Amino acid sequence: MRFRFLYNSMASTTKYIFVTGGVTSSLGKGILAASLAKLLQLRGYKTTIQKFDPYINIDPGTLNPYEHGECYVTDDGAETDLDLGHYERFLNVPTSQANNVTTGRIYETVIKRERMGEYGGKTVQVIPHITDEIKRRFELLNENEAYDIILTEIGGTVGDIESLPYIEALRQFRYDYGPEHCLVIHLTLVPYLKAVGELKTKPTQHSVKSLLQSGIQPDILVCRSEQKIPIEVRTKVARFCNVSLDSVIENLNAATIYEVPFLLKKENLDIVTLRKLGLSPREEPDLSFWKDFVSKLKNPSDEVRIALVGKYVELHDSYLSIAESLKIAAAENELSVQIDWIHSEDVTAENTERIFKEVDGILVAPGFGERGVEGKIHSVKYAREHNIPFYGICLGMQIAVIEFARNVLELPSANSTEFDENTPDPVINMMEEQKRVKQLGGTMRLGGYECVLRRNSLVHQSYQKTRVRERHRHRYEFNSEYGKKFERKGMIMTGRNPETELIEIVELRDHPYFIGTQFHPEYQTTVESPHPLFLSFINAAYAHKMSKENGS
Ligand code: GLN
Repeated sequence: MRFRFLYNSMASTTKYIFVTGGVTSSLGKGILAASLAKLLQLRGYKTTIQKFDPYINIDPGTLNPYEHGECYVTDDGAETDLDLGHYERFLNVPTSQANNVTTGRIYETVIKRERMGEYGGKTVQVIPHITDEIKRRFELLNENEAYDIILTEIGGTVGDIESLPYIEALRQFRYDYGPEHCLVIHLTLVPYLKAVGELKTKPTQHSVKSLLQSGIQPDILVCRSEQKIPIEVRTKVARFCNVSLDSVIENLNAATIYEVPFLLKKENLDIVTLRKLGLSPREEPDLSFWKDFVSKLKNPSDEVRIALVGKYVELHDSYLSIAESLKIAAAENELSVQIDWIHSEDVTAENTERIFKEVDGILVAPGFGERGVEGKIHSVKYAREHNIPFYGICLGMQIAVIEFARNVLELPSANSTEFDENTPDPVINMMEEQKRVKQLGGTMRLGGYECVLRRNSLVHQSYQKTRVRERHRHRYEFNSEYGKKFERKGMIMTGRNPETELIEIVELRDHPYFIGTQFHPEYQTTVESPHPLFLSFINAAYAHKMSKENGS
């Protein structure tokens, strides 16, 4: 190991930054990691982020959204933690399978190796075998030395039993590489106690103590706080946690997550980080684009109101990338977006008018299973009949197809075989190769696929090109045997997979804006490049609002 340290520190120039979390969960490690990575990227360092999650699932693909929020999908077809969405939206660079690792994945690799006899008769143990595998994966993104800096977010909270192998692997990694190549940033909470009017540092001290017990002295402490942290409190944290005063970074609540890079820059987090890693600050980061974006986000000239119909709406994180895509697209047009979170089970034929009367656009969300499907069908019907801009994503597109089949093609029992295996009109059905699949995890049509767009369609106008690549996550598909019937009555197929001929996009010919996509564009929105389909949807919704206000 010592040998590897010498080798690595001489041959590899890559620097590793680890972000750990203390005191409580939900302090925003992902946003901290993404914001710091952004600042480093803007200073000219090639930077990426990965996340290690301490749960046993191989990936979050089989998790109910209520458990863990949205499942984010990368271009190479990995089902990942939603923090990867933040990473992509902030950094504007794609992530991959290797950017999200779970305890399940680590154990799976080690156990497979054991079954192949690769441990040569040794007892396979957490230390060294699991920790070695964690360390191997810490470095995996850097196979070709493609990055100057790799940030690694360690999920969970320090002190949790399940985080222990990661913390031990980090301790060894830091020993192997040395502190100039491996920096630890610890995110903690400095709560404000109203009754005594004081900020309390004890939880931070305890959480650092817990890290020290595992042999890790954090280099930088980022302190979440609802109040400004005065110098005396900072000094106390610095002294009792053994860090320099300028390494106690205040992280106040921000009006929007996109403001966090500015707050952290004001605290010099990027400069302190680079100094500790022995790197020069290079150029001042040019934040003008972000400044402009945040200012548009915070000072909209008008609002657009979108109904988001889904069955997990109680937990907004279930639709995180969709909500962020709407916000980002609206900001581009100096608008704010108000999302009406509509539970699909609450929508009936009778109450659509009341629910949707005031909205400017209706978005039917992705989803699995039969619950809430009828409510989604009523929502689509209302949008179609009242010329309200409509966008259906994945299941939302499939629902648009079912609604059209039932109410326009007069096939009253039309359905997806996901909900009725014996429907006489399976307008959405499973592909043959999917029927053979028995295992649940990682077996859907996943990741990026090419799509060819029909000229002069709405999607062609939106993208301004005829070939795009978008990410998928589903088992069921439009049944092309029905294609001609739909086209004749006005639902047109405007996007096709060039290799398989699968239908990826449907539109309505005689409607101001009605699009359904089998793919998920929300996974490709970034701050620097808002997605063309969300832009055109927001524009159409705003045009609808204006025409309502002008009484036309
Ligand atoms: N349940 C549908 C399918 O598997 C849609 C999935 C989704 O909306 N992501 O095809």
